[in-house]
Amino acid sequence: MGISNLIFALSLVTAIFLFRRNVLKIKRNIFLGRDVNRSDQSFLRWKTMARVALGQTKMMVKPIAGFLHVIVYAGFVIINIEVLEIIIDGLFGTHRVFSFLGVFYDFLIASFEILALLVLLACVLFFIRRNGLRLKRFAAKEVSGWPKTDANLILVFEVLLMGAFLLMQGADLALQKMGTAYYVEAGSYPVSSYLLFLFEGMSESSVILFERFFWWVHILGIFAFLNYLPYSKHLHIVLAFPNTYYSNLKAKGAFTNMDSVTQEVKLMLDPDADPYATPDPDSSDDIQRFGAKDVTDLNWVQLMNAYSCTECGRCTSECPANQTGKLLSPRKIMMDTRDRLETYGAEIDAGDDQENQRPLLDGYISREELWACTTCNACTDACPINIDPLSIILDMRRYLVMEESAAPNELNMVFTNIENNGAPWQFSAADRLKWKDEL
Ligand code: SF4
Ligand code: SF4
Repeated sequence: MGISNLIFALSLVTAIFLFRRNVLKIKRNIFLGRDVNRSDQSFLRWKTMARVALGQTKMMVKPIAGFLHVIVYAGFVIINIEVLEIIIDGLFGTHRVFSFLGVFYDFLIASFEILALLVLLACVLFFIRRNGLRLKRFAAKEVSGWPKTDANLILVFEVLLMGAFLLMQGADLALQKMGTAYYVEAGSYPVSSYLLFLFEGMSESSVILFERFFWWVHILGIFAFLNYLPYSKHLHIVLAFPNTYYSNLKAKGAFTNMDSVTQEVKLMLDPDADPYATPDPDSSDDIQRFGAKDVTDLNWVQLMNAYSCTECGRCTSECPANQTGKLLSPRKIMMDTRDRLETYGAEIDAGDDQENQRPLLDGYISREELWACTTCNACTDACPINIDPLSIILDMRRYLVMEESAAPNELNMVFTNIENNGAPWQFSAADRLKWKDEL
């Protein structure tokens, strides 16, 4: 094994080790959430995942952006098949180890090149659209600062990766044409053959230097990208799949009953129940809060939703509360949930207790935002990967109502009327038909 193979092996092991460590932390954070059973209807779940995550059908609501996104996504996935060859070559000192595939190899290399060019162009267009067109959903306050930098960084990163790939291919082709030993004649180069002019007049050793330089830039760039993913909204490349698989399959707008409340009601209706009985100390049932005050009161699917959010803002642009100038933005609800969860996880890692931490409610998401929601479901409908910001809003409202009795005055009046009169109005049940006396 040569020194370069050794350096490559070390880089590969380090990249995998760091990535695994970050993935395990994210998994731990997600499972800080409450349990929820989403193992039903597996066929429908696979179908939803294939349609929404793989087929990207909801992206196509905006056809131009949707089409460009499909190119970037397909390019990203397919071109990375080539990484397998690079890894084998890097570890064992071979070159184009799959070239024995003959015509199929030519087809693969040609496809990679065409896709790389398309991805490069799509990323340039996305960059111009994001920074030059001043679209409202990209100019909102919650995506200024780091989220904007993150979005731009990844586009620049993709352009550099694809550029390095094409330049590496071009230098390789030049060396093949020079008949350089080690550079086997294999592959078809519909894009990089136009880059041959760059190497005209260069000595063989200089072209080898170029080819090796871009080979390393390309593969180290991929390792860096892999380890950047867990810190970025681009984690959705991976999480979109489980996120859509475990998405809520119930009819839109159907509220979930809380088990704890159902149990309480059953107990109240049970004539044999002892209201003074002390809870069984050996019972495994946790005493849980009603609703959600912090991230650990949410369920793990909601927390996975937060990690999967692409910050695209499609939910916020459809939100009637946001459109009418209210403080609420469903995208911000998801971003705040992720930020709080990251802080929570970091505190666990540091061994600190959470006592002095800002909880999700009031620390990140204000009551004004929560009560601005009309529960219309437009956000969940618009989300390209089936994220459900409304479920988080509802759970936090439940906490406010059931634990703090802190509903807005108008709602408190309705609750009092329901309690006293069995209806939301201020009239007793006996007066309900009085209106007909006026006829
Ligand atoms: S459900 Fe609430 S947050 Fe979602 S779009 Fe409607 S008003 Fe906005
Ligand atoms: S919740 Fe969905 S629609 Fe909203 S920003 Fe996140 S990914 Fe986009």
